[in-house]
Amino acid sequence: MENADVVIVGGGLEGLSIAWALAERGVRDITVLERDTLCSGGTAKSSSIVRCHYGVASLAAMSWYGVEVFANAQELLGTDIGFRQVGYAVGVGAENLAALRANVAMQRSLGIEVDELTPAEMSVHWPTMFVDDFSAFAYEPQGGRGDAYMIGMAYAALARDRGVRIRQNTPVAALVTGDDGRVIGVDTAAGERISAGTVILANGAWSVPLAAALGIDLPVRAQRAQILMVESGERLGDAPVISDLVSLQYFRTETSGELLVGNSDHTNPEFVDPDRYRNRADDSFTEKAAEKLAHRFPTWSDPGVVTSYAGCYDVTPDYNPMIGPAELPGLFIAVGFSGHGFKLAPAVGRLTADLLIDGKSSDPVIDPADFRSTRFAEGWALLSQNPYIGAGQMR
Ligand SMILES: Cc1cc2nc3c(=O)[nH]c(=O)nc-3n(C[C@H](O)[C@H](O)[C@H](O)COP(=O)(O)OP(=O)(O)OC[C@H]3O[C@@H](n4cnc5c(N)ncnc54)[C@H](O)[C@@H]3O)c2cc1C
Repeated sequence: MENADVVIVGGGLEGLSIAWALAERGVRDITVLERDTLCSGGTAKSSSIVRCHYGVASLAAMSWYGVEVFANAQELLGTDIGFRQVGYAVGVGAENLAALRANVAMQRSLGIEVDELTPAEMSVHWPTMFVDDFSAFAYEPQGGRGDAYMIGMAYAALARDRGVRIRQNTPVAALVTGDDGRVIGVDTAAGERISAGTVILANGAWSVPLAAALGIDLPVRAQRAQILMVESGERLGDAPVISDLVSLQYFRTETSGELLVGNSDHTNPEFVDPDRYRNRADDSFTEKAAEKLAHRFPTWSDPGVVTSYAGCYDVTPDYNPMIGPAELPGLFIAVGFSGHGFKLAPAVGRLTADLLIDGKSSDPVIDPADFRSTRFAEGWALLSQNPYIGAGQMR
């Protein structure tokens, strides 16, 4: 029987960030178990947008820490992780102006660099974008776009370098408990038992059956998200990433010149089996997105969809993650990242290491109580203080 101080179930971005953060803090005996290949789950599909615009202070602070790590990756991680600081802007109509200003004020109180721009000022950054139906933008010059796969694999390489064992093609079939109910290890699908002082579930919506077998109800579902890659027919350059809360869509440029387009209308979420969902956009989605783009970019002469795909967000009822100890000793939960997990990943690793090693968060703004996995059973939810009409809790 193999032994480890810590077993991490799931070799996606969060599991690998946690593995590296623990190793950095001196935990030596760590095993990551990945059922497939590293970063082949939600991480592979991530739009990898970096913004600090949240209505929850702890999330904004976590993202700001992410910006710091991404921007200094060469120095901190010794490698380029694909972060391109092209800027990020969220644009709203009149009905959401007060919420935007309140969120900007909250961000500023945390030291986050953000400006309110008029539509005309935004046009300087995006000359072909139709902006007349926006009232204002919150612009983060330090935001932008990254590459979730690249940073996940960078964390994996660094973790391996510090002695972390990473085992791919090793699905975990069950969590193992001792006579006192404490989680003491895992059984793999190949029939191997690995004992552990702590087991961390970092396997997204796939965590649900493993926890349920121990009587723990993790309210996590897989929500399908469709993405289009669009050729605009124009030179777009390195324009800022835009969250368009008027049309309820988002878009980011690619270095290739294509535009990645995603949906921000979550009024009718499509919950799916994360192992069986349609991995390309529906015609109805494409038509709707094309209409929104034609409205937003009326001068584009010959746009076309190059390709499409779909991924799954692992969503909780409040669209925020669960990070912290489970009801059963020996088990730690880091799932339910709900479409935010790229930018949060560096802070997720740091917070997990803080909680497991020190029992408290090292950042006073990042209150671990916000992310406790028991909050739903207690009737509490981590909600935006300044929500946007029409945008649900994703913003
Ligand atoms: C379409 C899309 C767009 C997104 N855009 C953004 C964005 O712009 N900005 C942002 O911040 N976030 C974004 N996200 C969210 C972000 O990418 C995710 O939150 C993050 O990558 C999740 O990482 P994870 O490690 O929790 O999950 P995953 O990457 O899904 O990793 C979980 C791993 O666990 C493995 N696993 C499952 N079951 C088992 C088992 N029994 N045993 C062993 N291994 C197992 C899986 O194979 C998988 O590799 C987006 C997500 C999607 C899907």
